[in-house]
Amino acid sequence: MSTATPQKFEFQAEIKQLLDIVIHSLYTEKEIFVRELVSNASDALEKLRHTQLTEKDIFEESQSLEISLTTDDKAKTLTIQDYGVGMTREELVKNLGTIAHSGSKQFLKSLSEGGQKNSNLIGQFGVGFYSAFMVAKSVKVYSHSWKKDEPGHVWSSDGSGSYEVEQVDGLSRGTKIVIELKDDCGEYATEGRVKDILERYSAFVSFPINLNGKHINTVTALWLRSKNEIKEEEYTEFYKFQSHAYDEPLMRLHFSADAPLSINALLFVPKENTEKLGFSRLEPSVSLYCRKVLIDAAPKDLLPEWLRFLKGVVDSEDIPLNISRETMQDKALIEKLNKVITKRFLKFLDEEATQRPEEFAKFYATFGIFLKEGAAMDFTHKDQLVKLLRFESSLTEKTKNTSLAEYVSRMGSEQKEIYYLVGKNRAAIESGPYLEGFKARNLEVLFCYEPVDEYVMNNVREFDGKKIIAADHGDVKLADIPKAEGALSDDQVKELTKWLKDTLGDRVAEVKSSDRLVDSPALAINSDKFMSAHMRRMMKAMDKDGADTPVKVDLEINPRAAVMKRLYESHTTSPDRSKLVAEQILDNALISAGLLEDATPMVARLYKLLETV
Ligand code: ADP
Ligand code: MG
Repeated sequence: MSTATPQKFEFQAEIKQLLDIVIHSLYTEKEIFVRELVSNASDALEKLRHTQLTEKDIFEESQSLEISLTTDDKAKTLTIQDYGVGMTREELVKNLGTIAHSGSKQFLKSLSEGGQKNSNLIGQFGVGFYSAFMVAKSVKVYSHSWKKDEPGHVWSSDGSGSYEVEQVDGLSRGTKIVIELKDDCGEYATEGRVKDILERYSAFVSFPINLNGKHINTVTALWLRSKNEIKEEEYTEFYKFQSHAYDEPLMRLHFSADAPLSINALLFVPKENTEKLGFSRLEPSVSLYCRKVLIDAAPKDLLPEWLRFLKGVVDSEDIPLNISRETMQDKALIEKLNKVITKRFLKFLDEEATQRPEEFAKFYATFGIFLKEGAAMDFTHKDQLVKLLRFESSLTEKTKNTSLAEYVSRMGSEQKEIYYLVGKNRAAIESGPYLEGFKARNLEVLFCYEPVDEYVMNNVREFDGKKIIAADHGDVKLADIPKAEGALSDDQVKELTKWLKDTLGDRVAEVKSSDRLVDSPALAINSDKFMSAHMRRMMKAMDKDGADTPVKVDLEINPRAAVMKRLYESHTTSPDRSKLVAEQILDNALISAGLLEDATPMVARLYKLLETV
């Protein structure tokens, strides 16, 4: 029952402008109005809790601090009620009729700066209370202040330029907002739809939220609780809920920081790397919260690209207390968050690697590929990432990894460079001709099995002041080892290499005696410095220009090998057969180098050779 006549007010000009944009926007994520109104309700409850600390005389003191939503799909209304501080008549006029607060002001500012066409802005800024007009025919705000002597009022508007305020008796403390929905927005009067929205945006709000009498937000904001109070199962439950996962996480990092930013973060590494399993590229999915309210479920720049496998939550209070979600648009703030979190996560991995190497190895087997990506592309974090890289090597056992630091610690005083070889697997590298020269000289070689490794090594380039270089690269120079008994003499080698060059013609750039070979008769070195064998294969797979230029290699021969000695003897006595042997030696070397592109001529030749048996 009203005890005073309704009074009509015009909205301030800026509000009119704002409402016009909100109402006419074709913005698709209209659902965020629920988040905004629930956040306002939560803010009002928080304010009441503060008020209770200092004030004695509070209206309906014992009323419980909770938020209730009611849907009525017949009447097409959605009601949101809180028992917070409420608003007096003056406050209703000031808070809901003028644009004093930061959020909406910032929104208007960015619109005037050319954002007009970007309807997404509403979603980014929230624009708080007024977002209700995206879905409402009319909005009624019933409010009773915590102050005992103030009467209650209803504020109402259809958003078209003016609003009314009228005194109303019999209200509870706090605010009850009744939204009469537009005809095409009836979905917001159905329980299922509203439940989904609440679970998405407001699952961690600290006050109980009830929808049609049922408690919704049963999961607590675990990231804000202290670590030693949290049970293992709680973490797992939270992970499953927040990341929509079915399994347990592989690793977890729960931390808080005060400087340079206040951050509470709970990050998880999942069990599986779905990208590696062949699913599509992962999208960033660590959610950003401000004081338990979801700001963005999947912010793009919160973490570097190579951390896209992480799940979890980052909450920063550094968004000013006056609840303005637009701060989220603050690029500098996101960058700062990114820096702090990445640094902390890298430190965590480093600790895991030293304190729990087995756990780290498990992680590396699944997610190491992301660390490689980071080491190659993220200049800011390259140094820390390179330290975390692991490889098998000629000195490790199969499946046991070593770090670059460990490799360097084993280097002899004469060794200046770090060597690696890329191959399909350990067996392929060990049976190829490239490794033996390094083995004979006690030089360790890292084994790389992944297609990206060459790219990564090329980008990483050096570690601890030592160049990282491919063992099959033309530039590698190895120290002399004593010539074995019975090798071809220098003159014989000269004669044989010249004959080989003449015989093989354009297929080889150069033929020379090798310092890399111990047992194998020959090897091929890609003489194209700008395109390695692996790059060549990749380009071929991608059908890129340049992959079709004929391969030209340097052929290195082993003057100790029986085949070479035999060939030296026969190249003058049976030139035709020797030519076939020479061609076959080259093809064998090309196979080991991964450079043989067409094996058909080789098969025909082999039959010819077999005929001469
Ligand atoms: P913001 O929340 O960013 O301040 P809003 O547009 O969401 O902006 O709300 C405007 C103001 O209206 C709030 O600052 C608050 O003072 C007041 N208000 C809105 N909803 C409520 C509520 N449920 N209870 C009390 N005050 C409210
Ligand atoms: Mg608000």
